Amino acid sequence: MKWYRKLHWQIIIGMVLGLIWGLFSSIVGLNEFTSDYIRPFGDIFITLLKLIAVPLVLASLVVGVSNLNDMSQLSRMGGKTIAIYLITTTLAITIGLGVVNIMQPGKALPEETRTSLMESYGGSVEGRDEAAQELLDRSPLDFFVDIVPENFFEAASDNANMLQVVFIAILIGIGIVQIPIQKGQVLINVFESLNDVIIKIVDLIMKTAPYGVFALMAVVIVDLAGDDLSQALTLLSALGWYTLAVVFGLFLHVMIVYSSLFKIFSQMKLKDFFKAIQPAVLLGFSTSSSAATLPVTMERVENNLGVDEEVSSFVLPVGATINMDGTSLYQAVAAVFIAQALGMDLSIAQQLTIVLTATLASIGAAGVPGAGIIMLVIVLQTIQVPIEGIALILGVDRILDMVRTAVNVTGDAAVAVAVAHTEGKLGALHFDDEDL
Ligand code: ASP
Repeated sequence: MKWYRKLHWQIIIGMVLGLIWGLFSSIVGLNEFTSDYIRPFGDIFITLLKLIAVPLVLASLVVGVSNLNDMSQLSRMGGKTIAIYLITTTLAITIGLGVVNIMQPGKALPEETRTSLMESYGGSVEGRDEAAQELLDRSPLDFFVDIVPENFFEAASDNANMLQVVFIAILIGIGIVQIPIQKGQVLINVFESLNDVIIKIVDLIMKTAPYGVFALMAVVIVDLAGDDLSQALTLLSALGWYTLAVVFGLFLHVMIVYSSLFKIFSQMKLKDFFKAIQPAVLLGFSTSSSAATLPVTMERVENNLGVDEEVSSFVLPVGATINMDGTSLYQAVAAVFIAQALGMDLSIAQQLTIVLTATLASIGAAGVPGAGIIMLVIVLQTIQVPIEGIALILGVDRILDMVRTAVNVTGDAAVAVAVAHTEGKLGALHFDDEDL
């Protein structure tokens, strides 16, 4: 197969062309055209992915649970998954703190840039404060209360409720196991064929990915640059050191933490791992949403990484909601950056508080664009750094959102491999023609 016919190359070509189109359209003033006639294709693409996420999770998890030999396997897998998620998140924050303390990007920000950023973005910070405040006002156990839906259809109608869907699917699966096999088999067959159909639909949607990604990239650039490309570039260079700190931290996290995870739990090579999940990572990058990417992550993890459906159908939806290594690392860097830029020195105790709050804030962040910066308010409030400081980083957040989401998706897939290996449910790697 010619290289340009392979899906991941087509997605990359779509991204690059989208980037070029976005720049071109900002320079020659075609932004309105891009918004009116190109944006909708990106929107449709993301909506299609979201559309199948709930039925996919439901069908595959019901099948997964009803295939389990005994229920203790489920709780063992659950415990292991949550433990590894928490460990990788904590490590991500530690790496973020290490990088930002060594690079000190906040101290490199010139005084006048700081003042002008605060003036231009200051107003947009308020809404974020309210959203985070609502979360802060809740009791710590509300997280668990929220997992239990009061209405099946309501839970299934909102992608933000993925944990509720997971909960329902586990209950149905457990119910099926409890009744005689002749009666349960009908339902298992239904969910199994539903699952197969949805996987085919994911394949179909992925065929349109290069176009969807083109539109998404073009729109990101147009939204960022607006009509004044040079202003956007000035902003990027002013915050270049900060942007670099986040990206470098994320890179270290992937190289150190995920490759160690593979060394400890499976013999998978980081290179093969990425080759297998490439399209999911690229989609995470271009959609900035782990929730929208979930169907593709599931498909890749099962078909190409060889993770058994029993494991992936549980580990991945839970991960897309609560495991965000990229987001937590970014929050640590951003919080310290803001403190540095405002001339505050954070004590060791405050930095340790960041480890705790960024873990909670990343668990609480939904897998949608921009969720991480809303939850950053919680981190800042706890360490008593003025939340207005968010104005400093708002301008480049869209770009960092893309990179951190790609890492979030990678982290979920890496943990799925680790859990599957320890459960004896990791098959052989498989590459489609189009991957090679
Ligand atoms: N966009 C991220 C995600 O979906 C969350 C964030 O804003 O950090 O994974």
